Amino acid sequence: MSNYTVSERVRQVFTQIMEQESVRKGLEFIKADQPRAIAEQKEIVTIEAPTFHEGQRAADYARRLRELGLQDVHFDSAGNVLGRRPGKGNGPTVLLEAHLDTVFPFGTDVSPVEKDGKIYAPGICDDTRGLAANLSVIRALNATGIETEGDLIFAGTVAEEGLGGMSGMKALLEEYAGIAATISIDGAGGDTIIYQGTGIRNFEVTYTGPGGHAYGAFGTPSPLHAAARAIAKLSDMRPPSTPKTTFTVSLIEGGHQIHAIAQKAVFKINMRSDDPEELDKLQEQAIALFVAGAREENERWGQDLLTVDYKQILDVPAGTQPDDATIVQAAWQATECVGIQPRLVPGGCTNTNMPIKMGIPAVTLGRGGREGGVHSLGEWFDPEGAYCCPQKSFLMLLALAGMRGVSEPLVEKR
Ligand SMILES: [Zn+2]
Repeated sequence: MSNYTVSERVRQVFTQIMEQESVRKGLEFIKADQPRAIAEQKEIVTIEAPTFHEGQRAADYARRLRELGLQDVHFDSAGNVLGRRPGKGNGPTVLLEAHLDTVFPFGTDVSPVEKDGKIYAPGICDDTRGLAANLSVIRALNATGIETEGDLIFAGTVAEEGLGGMSGMKALLEEYAGIAATISIDGAGGDTIIYQGTGIRNFEVTYTGPGGHAYGAFGTPSPLHAAARAIAKLSDMRPPSTPKTTFTVSLIEGGHQIHAIAQKAVFKINMRSDDPEELDKLQEQAIALFVAGAREENERWGQDLLTVDYKQILDVPAGTQPDDATIVQAAWQATECVGIQPRLVPGGCTNTNMPIKMGIPAVTLGRGGREGGVHSLGEWFDPEGAYCCPQKSFLMLLALAGMRGVSEPLVEKR
């Protein structure tokens, strides 16, 4: 994507911003601030925050936002923590956020260990790094005294991971009226721009029957066999590769005894697509196959004893915005301004799904540095050059919200 085109308008805004002495100072400040940001990252990672249990980490983050002078630092009804840096004009409100929750349960050893220039700790990248990087952005704004036209909102969000399904971000946008654009910090790398939202649907499918002795009750339809029939059919589904559409039966359990016909079998299926219509189609097809598994098992034995139940256990909306949307161009330009070749990433399941679905311009930008083992106990972060992340966020906020006396906001007020 080296032939990506940035419009004259977006180019001009970034030229105006980059010409300012205060902005150059801000970028330098962020580079010099990296040791402090990394120190905070190592502090925050020790506060455990499994999805739906982010309270303690949120309280700590609220304190940090207050200490940096943000106004109206508060928790919303979902438990997200937000603070505001007021704009000086009448510009659009822009959100910069990272998620508080991690995939690790309470009791995980989260103390950071440093080895060969890397920091090892579960959650050190995802998304503790995002939280810490965003604090560096606030410090740079404070240090330079730069004023924006629109308000800037900084947030730590809850319930991004797993069955949280990005519901924290959804609640934040529904509750905090007027957010005109959002920047999420998540994912590896300094070059990535995620601007699409891959939808997710998870279903739990349960087959139930009378069960019985493996020998004595032979002829009774089996919930396990029904589930297996359904899974065999599901395995043969052929969703399109573009837009990328995927599925997997990820969990299965059932039966209770080697010498018994099962009474129950349950499986879970995860389906995803970059396109909401394809996801609807896949879901419709899958549901028909859940039912067919039960029907065929009943028919096989000539007895109508087996039932199937299915329920949706997660629904993350899919959404897309054009790759030449102004916010995507701005992210491209901001990345180039910090000396990195940008990369547009297709798809993605991040907090950006929610704003896109609501028609709010949004991007997710990588955390900078290098990382590995994310979502595993061996998760590590290599901070070399990671300051590019807060540098980009700093430029994005100025460009989107408008830099007072320098540039017009790139997004519309909402
Ligand atoms: Zn994450």
